[in-house]
Amino acid sequence: MDTTEYNRVLVVLILINSLPIGNSAPQGFCNPEQESLGECHSSPAEEKPVCIDINLAYCNDLGYSRTIFPNILGHRSRQEVESGPEYLLLSVIRGLLHGECSPDIRLLGCSVLAPPCKNQPSPTSVKPCRSACEALKKGCGHAFEGIDMAWPYFLDCDRFFASDEEGCHDPLAQLRAKQEVSLSSLSLDKTSTIIQFTYHTNAQMYSVLKRTASKCSHISRTYSLGRSVEGKDLLAIEFSDNPGGHELLEPEVKLVGNMHGNEVLGRQLLIYLAQYLCSEYLLGNQRIQTLVNTTRVHILASMNPDGYDLAVAEVEDSNDPERQEHDNQEGRELNSWTVGRTNAQNLDLNRNFPDLTSILYRNRRINQFRTDHIPIPDSYWFGKIAPETYAVMKWIRSVPFVLSASLHGGELVISYPFDFSRHIHEDRMFSPTPDEQAFKQLARTYADAHASMADNNTERCGASFIRNGGIINGAQWYSFPGGMSDFNYLHTNCLEITVELGCDKFPPEVELYPEWLRNKEALMSFMESVHRGIKGVVKDEEGYGIKGASISVRGIRKDVTTAEDGDYWRLLNSGTYIVTASAKGYSRVSKRIRLPAHLEKPGRVDFLLKKVQVRPVEPDYQLLFPSSSLDTYERFDPYNQFRRNGEPGEPSEPGTGGEPGLDPERQEKPWWWSYFSQAGFSAPTWLLRNV
Ligand SMILES: [Zn+2]
Repeated sequence: MDTTEYNRVLVVLILINSLPIGNSAPQGFCNPEQESLGECHSSPAEEKPVCIDINLAYCNDLGYSRTIFPNILGHRSRQEVESGPEYLLLSVIRGLLHGECSPDIRLLGCSVLAPPCKNQPSPTSVKPCRSACEALKKGCGHAFEGIDMAWPYFLDCDRFFASDEEGCHDPLAQLRAKQEVSLSSLSLDKTSTIIQFTYHTNAQMYSVLKRTASKCSHISRTYSLGRSVEGKDLLAIEFSDNPGGHELLEPEVKLVGNMHGNEVLGRQLLIYLAQYLCSEYLLGNQRIQTLVNTTRVHILASMNPDGYDLAVAEVEDSNDPERQEHDNQEGRELNSWTVGRTNAQNLDLNRNFPDLTSILYRNRRINQFRTDHIPIPDSYWFGKIAPETYAVMKWIRSVPFVLSASLHGGELVISYPFDFSRHIHEDRMFSPTPDEQAFKQLARTYADAHASMADNNTERCGASFIRNGGIINGAQWYSFPGGMSDFNYLHTNCLEITVELGCDKFPPEVELYPEWLRNKEALMSFMESVHRGIKGVVKDEEGYGIKGASISVRGIRKDVTTAEDGDYWRLLNSGTYIVTASAKGYSRVSKRIRLPAHLEKPGRVDFLLKKVQVRPVEPDYQLLFPSSSLDTYERFDPYNQFRRNGEPGEPSEPGTGGEPGLDPERQEKPWWWSYFSQAGFSAPTWLLRNV
């Protein structure tokens, strides 16, 4: 909703509050909750119906001028209509649905509140046509679902509408005629989406993502990873030709924005990207269809919605002229540079992950030490863990992600792991992973496709690190432990880069559209690059996939493991490789492969492993590392330490009962509820779904 619409909602609310009208229901008809409260009085001795001029601001364009009271809902006067929740809904619905199905819904509602009046033989109303209602419900039901709103009771096609045979009025006929005259193919095109390049509040973000998912429900859905400290949803949206499930051999990508709450551009770009993927898919964009049909894309636009709110408040505050007089310039800028960066517990989420990099450095000289899938040490669970970190860790562990980007701001550069320096006293030291070549290529993919990132002449943000075409090793830039990218790499198969989108962490709104243009191709190319390298299935002799088998590449000391059904992905640049598959209790199989440059699709390399007798005396990993004997990969929060600390935000799993620490009111009511609950009439619970 833009500000003018928002103001209009407020004006309407104020008007209604000031009207001297009680909660009394219109007498002729009862809405559902009045019925349940026994507030309905059937009064057959109503006053005679009269035809009267329509005098309703939101229903003044119906193509006829006379309506009837009592109307179809039993309202006896214009004042009664204006003070009801039905009319309030029609006056704000355009804003709530972000313009979708507008003005159609309003016109349909007006045809019930203010139906045409026929004077012969006596004043009677002409009911609106059921066919129009049904068509609109079919086309617009998803828009209501998108904001968690029920289809309004007074638009019940069966109760308040009439068939053609009975004689009815088509409330949308005039609109359709106008559209045909204007020949505007765009406005008739139900699939096109107008992306609003503005900032979105958390509520607006949830609304846009949910509406996008319901509009594209065959390729998209939203789901929650958990909740922030203040109980806000960590809402992800996914795109896939089979949303909701992993498909054999289909790689999974994730994009994460707003981990630092005050770095807001990435968050907006991801909201736009979700809308773009949906509408372009529907429009038949070949490239988008190929991507979505062959890839599962997950988008978490905001990992830190609490921090975002703080950052917004800070930006608004610093625009306050009174405050500007008091603050000295430097102090204010310093402040707005950091306010909202952390979560509501003041934890920097990008320092809050388990520091597996140190464990790697300590043990790397030991021959048997596995440098992949390093377990989370038990000690981690006794520190302070943010619910946002916890939720994201669970997410990273539960989906076989191959590739990821975390979107930040404050610089214009791509950095890639390791972020933590391999030398304890060197906080600017090149610290490559075994996948240095693949990481470099991935970083280049984004930087080169970005409008200005790879350009060394572009004016940068004041830092003086050495840049190489807009990409840099994280630890060489500046070293820090506990980052998300290092965790992705050392704990899972996933390769994650950090995208610093620009110098300004909170750019002015006019910059949002140009920034989208600068990053759109980069985001697309990056997602597509998940199809580099090789993929395949590791099977046993009976043809069953082997879960957890290792795929090793000679010369790269980092194995990837197979997913549930034995499928794997190994990002590799072009070249010749020896690839080996192994699993406990099976023989090893090696293959020599050659990946030519500019391979469009990943090479398919399957393995068939034969069962062998497990040798009783194997070098015992646990004996080599007694200190880590308790730390196994499967253990996650082994002492339930996270819950015991009373951390809020952990969503309950199915069957585990309630959600501690959450206000049930806040959980149940959608964001638009306050518009209606404060308006002076009995709250229209018929707008709530699943009640
Ligand atoms: Zn950041």
